[in-house]
Amino acid sequence: MFENLEVWWLSGTQLLYGEQVLGQVDAHSNEMIAGINASGNVPVKIVYKGTVKSSEEAEKLMKEATACDKCVGVITWMHTFSPAKMWIKGLQALQKPMLHFHTQFNAEIPWKEIDMDFMNLNQSAHGDIEFGHACTRMRVPRKVVVGYWKSEEAQKQIGVWARVAAGVADAHNTRCLMFGMNMNNVSVTDGDRVEFEQRLGYHVDYYPVSSLMDYWKKVTDAEADALVEEYKKEYTIKIDESGEEIYWEKVKNAAKAEIAIRRVLKDEGATAFTTNFDDLGDADINDPNFCGFDQIPGLASQRLMAEGIGFGAEGDWKTACLCRTMWIMNQGLAKGCSFLEDYTLNFAENQTSILQSHMLEVCPLIAVDKPTLEVHMLGIGIRSQFTARLVFTSKIGSGIKATVVDLGNRFRLITQEVECIEPEKMPKLPVASALWVPQPTFEIGAGAWILAGGTHHSAFSYDLTEEYWDDFAEMTGIEYAKINKQTTIPGFKQDLRNNEIYYMLNKALR
Ligand code: MN
Repeated sequence: MFENLEVWWLSGTQLLYGEQVLGQVDAHSNEMIAGINASGNVPVKIVYKGTVKSSEEAEKLMKEATACDKCVGVITWMHTFSPAKMWIKGLQALQKPMLHFHTQFNAEIPWKEIDMDFMNLNQSAHGDIEFGHACTRMRVPRKVVVGYWKSEEAQKQIGVWARVAAGVADAHNTRCLMFGMNMNNVSVTDGDRVEFEQRLGYHVDYYPVSSLMDYWKKVTDAEADALVEEYKKEYTIKIDESGEEIYWEKVKNAAKAEIAIRRVLKDEGATAFTTNFDDLGDADINDPNFCGFDQIPGLASQRLMAEGIGFGAEGDWKTACLCRTMWIMNQGLAKGCSFLEDYTLNFAENQTSILQSHMLEVCPLIAVDKPTLEVHMLGIGIRSQFTARLVFTSKIGSGIKATVVDLGNRFRLITQEVECIEPEKMPKLPVASALWVPQPTFEIGAGAWILAGGTHHSAFSYDLTEEYWDDFAEMTGIEYAKINKQTTIPGFKQDLRNNEIYYMLNKALR
């Protein structure tokens, strides 16, 4: 996912120091970049684009970075003093995420040897501050990472930023198909899709279910049988209430649905989609000419999510898009991510928690062990039918849920730290699920989420921290309301009030 991408590194200096120093700046930059690339802490390759010594060079390189499809962001570092007015036109031209790395080639001052030449050459403290001033004055969105370039902590912060930059670049190429509309009367899944594309890049289109059915009709039995064989390898087969015959019929039809959806996504160049359980093709399943899904395509949604296709239920295009980006950022990290939905509260003496599930659509990436493939009655929507699904419980440990809501005048990203705990056995609830406690407490966490206007759907990850979402909000310029272990309700309410003013003014200034 990251292998074809690049982050560009520009070192800043000026002509004052002479040829020899410029050669040293180059050599130092090359050594630092090679070291960071070799560390494995930054998953996107950093490419050295040279030393900037003039306004013309800065503008040229920033324009090239903006135009280059492979480049997801730019790292700047002022090796020596680089008078920042020479960066103005470059910073104006840059339309990609920027990271300002405040570091220095040399680690400790050689107290006995340090002389004027040494001090002149190791001048990042001087140069980076001048550069930072210009960025602040120009209101340039950026991440500032401070630390020695060999330190793992600093490298990891660059790594987070690079992952998010890759996610933001992908968002600009993400097309989300809505199979059917968003569910009638639901407010939180609605919003301004034009503004969404302007702000975040995602392109969201309606796709007629009747056209999806054209694909469904063309899926052959042989194709479906082949996919069912894959299911048998990947999952534990568990047949109970449906009996064997209905089980395999439903699994096969679920496979057909998966193949049909895959083909539409491929043909349409889409990497995210939504479904609506009230719109699955023909309504009357007993009609001899019936053409529709015989069950909610939940198994397809689960499996596609695991491959990085963003998913949102009930036409929730915002969450579908966010799930896609989350999966990109989460690539190669340990514990996984999923679309989730708040379902049922568990008021328990010392462990009040929220059961996360969906009807079916939870991503197997978060499963604690091998999912079982089951077929059970699902009595909701237009299809009260035996329905195939993957069943599992999720890993325990901390994670973050995220959502984006439309507040009418702006988008707000909301995240919440949660602690996933072990659920009790639920023998009569054969769906994938997780159980979590919002932080800092159930009461404060859930209360703050509601005050922020959060969704009942979310994009959840065990691996992404607030730092990722901070970077995401910075790069996209949207509001970020975070709920974590430090949150208090009065403080959070005041933050929301302050943001109301800030974004009102910010909008007027643009
Ligand atoms: Mn829902």
